[in-house]
Amino acid sequence: MKKHFTLLTLTLLTILFLPMSLMAQKKKESKVDPYATQVLTLTKNKQITEAFAIIDKLEPTTRKEHIELTEVPAPPFKESVRAQYFKKMLEAIGLDKVWIDSIGNVLALRKGKKGVRTVVLDAHLDTVFPEGTDVTVKQKGDTLFAPGIADDTRSLVAVLTMLKALKQANIETTDDVLIIGTVGEEGLGDLRGVKYVVEKSKLKIDSWIAVDGTDINYIVNGGLGSIRYKATISGPGGHSWGAFGLGNPHHAMAKAVNYFTDEAARFTSTGGKTSFNVGRTGGGTSVNSIPFESWAEVDMRSESPSQLKKIDSIFKSSMKRGVEDYNAGLKKGPALTLHLQQVGYRPSGSTAEKEAIVQRAWAASSYFTSETKYGIVSTNANTPMAHGIPAITIGSGGKSNHEHSLDEWWLNEKGADGIKFILLTVLMEAGMEKK
Ligand SMILES: [Zn+2]
Repeated sequence: MKKHFTLLTLTLLTILFLPMSLMAQKKKESKVDPYATQVLTLTKNKQITEAFAIIDKLEPTTRKEHIELTEVPAPPFKESVRAQYFKKMLEAIGLDKVWIDSIGNVLALRKGKKGVRTVVLDAHLDTVFPEGTDVTVKQKGDTLFAPGIADDTRSLVAVLTMLKALKQANIETTDDVLIIGTVGEEGLGDLRGVKYVVEKSKLKIDSWIAVDGTDINYIVNGGLGSIRYKATISGPGGHSWGAFGLGNPHHAMAKAVNYFTDEAARFTSTGGKTSFNVGRTGGGTSVNSIPFESWAEVDMRSESPSQLKKIDSIFKSSMKRGVEDYNAGLKKGPALTLHLQQVGYRPSGSTAEKEAIVQRAWAASSYFTSETKYGIVSTNANTPMAHGIPAITIGSGGKSNHEHSLDEWWLNEKGADGIKFILLTVLMEAGMEKK
């Protein structure tokens, strides 16, 4: 169990004033957290206090850019206008290289002194809102209202301000930092931006920090995976009376879904949390017609890659068995056919609590809040996690709610802390060069 920052400070002070003979023993008991100590040292560093002051000073600019970027729409699969805009904002900061890859991600390289490792810092460009959605930012009191204002535009802008602070405070990292504005994080985007970077680009990546959401007290070290299908059973169809006896796709679907849900319920009753859901069904022409088609949309999720794999195979075999058993009893007409179309795949994975990247973010978060927690969510970090790359997702500060809805809002409540939190986490992960 981790201790809160305030407790740690006390512990450290206690140790400092203990006689030497007691110290070894005490130290063992109190388990001084080296990461919290590192945060303390960093926050006393002159360049970092300067960077923090710059972040505070930049608050009006951060707000202005936040509004500006939110008003550049980024509907699913149509992020290119925002990508160009974000690219220009990155270029204005003065980084080593800024480019857009073939899938549409915006990348910016900030070279480290040694550059042996590459640490990715990503926020997603896309929103869930379709083309034509009014993305004008409305201000009511201190609150900014607009679709996408928090998820994830706030994070994109927090990253920009953090980069400016590093630049102006003349901070150099040891490792390279690769900043990415990713496409396709939401919904049917199916993590295509991050999947491209991790699985197809030739980039060598050593760790991944996704900035998504605003809460700075959640260190997401678990990636909730999901697999989605559209299952379709087809047959000739016909009159309910005249063609009676022909294979009925709805009847076969009912059998197959029943096989699936029975076996899935048994499987998910033990082990790590795994879920399954038949979310939508459809097909058919009228009450007195044998349908020519029956379809069902299915979503399965798990924290564990092996459980996800298993429930996926339960689904596929149950559907197959259901249709085969149904066809075996057919007296008339052709056999029904089954088509399974995978419509979504987000791998599950996790980064162990003991991993340095998780501990670093925890210690940085604990500097600002006493309520740091671990979280399991579906974010861009799922993909690097699934590939064994240490990854986390952290928030960018301020308060927000109603994400994915038209009345999404963001309030600058200690928003600057979020940017400082990102800065500390990145500096610990990429290393800070001594001046
Ligand atoms: Zn998001």
